[in-house]
Amino acid sequence: MNSYNDDQYEDEPDPFGDFESHSDEYENSLNDMQVQQGRFSCSFCGSPNDTFIDPSQGPDQEYIEDCQTCCAPNQLRLSWQESTSSWEMHSSEY
Ligand SMILES: [Zn+2]
Repeated sequence: MNSYNDDQYEDEPDPFGDFESHSDEYENSLNDMQVQQGRFSCSFCGSPNDTFIDPSQGPDQEYIEDCQTCCAPNQLRLSWQESTSSWEMHSSEY
C-alpha cells in the first residue's frame, strides 16, 4: 500500500456512457493528440518493432504486442512524460 500512482481513474465508469459528454478527467490535451508511432525493442530477440500509440487511451497504458520478428508477446508499458512531452515505452517479457 505504499505505491502511489494514477491508475485509479482507469477503471472509473463513465456515468454518461457515450462520447457526447466530454469528461474533464484528463486536464491535459492527450485526447486531442493524433495516434502516433512508437518503437520498442523486443525483450526476447531484441529486434526493433514499430507500433502505434493511441493517446486517447490515457497517460498510462499497458498492453501486449507480439514481436514482428519472433512473434513473442511483449508486455508494453507506456507512460506520458509531461515534462518532456514524449512517451516513455518499456517492453518486458510477458
Ligand atoms: Zn522478438
